[in-house]
Amino acid sequence: MSRRKKIYEGKAKILYEGPEPGTIVQYFKDDATAFNAEKKAVIEGKGVLNNRLSEFFMTGLGQIGVPNHFIKRLNMREQLVRSVEIVPLEIIVRNYAAGTMSKRLGIEEGTQLPRPIVEYCYKDDALGDPLVTEEHIAAFGWASQQDMDDILSLALRVNDFLSGVMMAVGIRLVDFKIEVGRIYDGDFQRLIVADEISPDSCRLWDIETGQKLDKDVFRRDLGDLKDAYTEVARRLGVMPKTAPITKPTLIN
Ligand code: 5GP
Repeated sequence: MSRRKKIYEGKAKILYEGPEPGTIVQYFKDDATAFNAEKKAVIEGKGVLNNRLSEFFMTGLGQIGVPNHFIKRLNMREQLVRSVEIVPLEIIVRNYAAGTMSKRLGIEEGTQLPRPIVEYCYKDDALGDPLVTEEHIAAFGWASQQDMDDILSLALRVNDFLSGVMMAVGIRLVDFKIEVGRIYDGDFQRLIVADEISPDSCRLWDIETGQKLDKDVFRRDLGDLKDAYTEVARRLGVMPKTAPITKPTLIN
């Protein structure tokens, strides 16, 4: 495996060239970062949990017809995904006020929003992923109007799916971030959900207690991040409570 060509290394994942054209191997690291990598730690087992959780969400989305990059899980830390041309936007959907929206608009965290609100950030670490409007996106050519219609539709479908799945296990989907990428079929191009969907990129609160079960546990020093992610995985039946998460298993 060490002879594979590394294509990109990000804060939480490494991308390697896949076995066939148009495929990529996505490796989930244990690294946790926050505040644009100002805060860093290695949380043993986080990558294993996120690999399984992202597989779970992407597979479910595929089953309801929301196109995404997931092909199959390869092992504990890797999945095979379709290679895409990433649109340089972070697409954030919010159901309740939290995080930067609460700060920016002075709305108390946990306030239910009148409807899901979709925001766009320009994907650029050096700039701290600034919030942008559709005017910026169109003017700078990051996405066309047709792309934006598709992105909005994908984002809201992901929101409906994830909200329902989480609600069923007693978890409130406060907000989340997705990324989308372009794939080409001959002359046609379409957008699919890419990157990952995991507690690294969502805010998940226990419905009863309000306990945070996402990366805010790390960002705000609220406890053990691995325990929080393990609890999400356990409730979703993604990994049995007793399964050791560092021991390799064979899959085909
Ligand atoms: P906020 O803008 O409040 O910081 O984040 C809104 C939502 O998007 C949260 O669920 C947060 O985890 C997610 N999010 C925003 N930016 C990033 C990012 O750069 N990486 C990841 N993994 N998630 C992000």
